[in-house]
Amino acid sequence: MLERGMVETIAAALSAHGLILRGGFNFAGGEGTPSGLSGAAARSVLLVGQAGAAPWPHFLRWLEKQSQPIDDSLDRWSRGVIGAVAEKFGARAVSPSDRPYLPFQQWAMQAEGLKPSPLGILMHPQYGLWHAYRGALLFENEIALHERRDVIHLCDTCLEKPCLKSCPVAAYSADGFVHETCLAHVRGQNGGPCRTGGCLDRNACPYGIDYRYPAEVQAFHMAAFAR
Ligand code: SF4
Ligand code: SF4
Repeated sequence: MLERGMVETIAAALSAHGLILRGGFNFAGGEGTPSGLSGAAARSVLLVGQAGAAPWPHFLRWLEKQSQPIDDSLDRWSRGVIGAVAEKFGARAVSPSDRPYLPFQQWAMQAEGLKPSPLGILMHPQYGLWHAYRGALLFENEIALHERRDVIHLCDTCLEKPCLKSCPVAAYSADGFVHETCLAHVRGQNGGPCRTGGCLDRNACPYGIDYRYPAEVQAFHMAAFAR
């Protein structure tokens, strides 16, 4: 059993890089359970992520020290930091960009009780849409966790839903997201506001604004999306 004290020590190691633990749970077992460090089935998972853009200055300091341009630099930084923490605490580190994809969104929903917004991003009662998952730690023993509290899903109380009304090409709608429509606009001559300030729909959400990513961070993510 991984004791609470150990979980707090892991959280402290991550916080040195602007990262936080985003909850966790013990696997029920059965098909689909990922493997742990030894290759045996994992018994538990801790999600690792961020609230707002807290890791950004840590990432930039790392990036400045690199001798040449790096593809998928934020992913590489996240893997390095989370991998080192995993090694120290006997876990297997995994990433949302691993192939085949791991069910990060399902894990996140189970760990924190969040539900998707109309944009697909999970809606957090404090951070709004301004948070992310950067990786997870898989353990081969169970974790002693606090019981998860019920979480309000703010989208249920949001009648106006400005996140579905602000995109100039209506790429998000009640019917879902049209990736090609969004991408063409972001890359096109009228896509400047999205490229420099981020998705207008995401920015229209009134919740979690204290955690909203600065424009330079949103521009970084948008450049990666539109590449
Ligand atoms: S604008 Fe309303 S519906 Fe859209 S993500 Fe925010 S809270 Fe949810
Ligand atoms: S990034 Fe721009 S084009 Fe894409 S959904 Fe958001 S507002 Fe629309």
